[in-house]
Amino acid sequence: MNPFKSHNNHNIECSIYTCANHSKNDGYCALNKIKVGTHEDNPTEIECTDCQSFERK
Ligand code: SF4
Repeated sequence: MNPFKSHNNHNIECSIYTCANHSKNDGYCALNKIKVGTHEDNPTEIECTDCQSFERK
């Protein structure tokens, strides 16, 4: 079990219910912290950003 996982982190809203780290009950991540990154060389739009803490269920 991930030691950084708690329950609902109300500081991290998230709608990715298919992520293993989602709290499931409402729109929050269950991790204490996440890492945001990019898959682009020069990110300029919201679509360029990724949650790099995503984990497949
Ligand atoms: S790890 Fe990222 S994608 Fe997964 S629930 Fe948390 S914020 Fe959402």
